Amino acid sequence: MLSSCWDTASDEKFIILTTTGILGDAIKNIVKEHAQVVSLMGPGIDPHTYKTTQKDVQQLEHAHMIFYNGLDLEGKMNNLLKNIAQKRKVYAASDALDATQLLCEDHFPVGIDPHIWFDVKLWKQVVGFISQKLQEARPGSAAYYQRNTLAYMEALEQLHQSVTAQIQSIPKEQRVLITAHDAFGYFGKAYDIEVVGLQGVSTVAECGLKDIKRIIDLIIKRNIKAVFFEASVSDRSMRAVVEGCAHYGYEVAVGGYLYSDALGAPDTVEGTYCGMVYANATTIVNALK
Ligand SMILES: [Zn+2]
Repeated sequence: MLSSCWDTASDEKFIILTTTGILGDAIKNIVKEHAQVVSLMGPGIDPHTYKTTQKDVQQLEHAHMIFYNGLDLEGKMNNLLKNIAQKRKVYAASDALDATQLLCEDHFPVGIDPHIWFDVKLWKQVVGFISQKLQEARPGSAAYYQRNTLAYMEALEQLHQSVTAQIQSIPKEQRVLITAHDAFGYFGKAYDIEVVGLQGVSTVAECGLKDIKRIIDLIIKRNIKAVFFEASVSDRSMRAVVEGCAHYGYEVAVGGYLYSDALGAPDTVEGTYCGMVYANATTIVNALK
């Protein structure tokens, strides 16, 4: 049986491949040094528009297990993932959630918001799902994976509590998050902050002059202090919003860069999921409070 063959593969030869670095970080916390984790999309990479290279295809074919986000986040990889799934174990992380937990939005390619990692509670569920799949594939390491998973869940719970407290510290009427694209829907719902995106859910859609004017009007009308750039999305349109506000004599600050669809640089705090979510919460609080 394939899975038992895999289980005898030595740790450094057992390769788990993920599309996003966010998924890769979750898996590293579960397997630690007991497997090799490879992520195709590094810092600053936009998964909505990501096109695989020849090297990626080779890496996908060599991996023992593959995890992707799903819900059309990796929209340009759908066919490739479907083909690889005939030969390899391929899992969509979003399968961890049931339909009632997903945010339906018409402007998303499949009608559902794919940015599930920004509700830490939901992400805990995803981590549990991934851990279960890894334990099934490698029964010899299952107890070790399970221990690591429980410790990581604890860290995620603390992160959730901390982000909740941080966002609650912003007065309710100032709790409006204006960003380049609609990545923060789950974040907004989980932490009670209104989210307004300049661009539809996917960065594939271009943002028009009408969208820019709509945001300028909203900022001025509601006296919003700051808007945010995103590390993996062009800041061109948001700069146009800031300039547009200035044109009407309203000064809106740039609150800083938020991590949305990719982690920060490796070997930095923001290069981990917990670090990235915490950094975002801090950036938001500093600009809006
Ligand atoms: Zn996105």
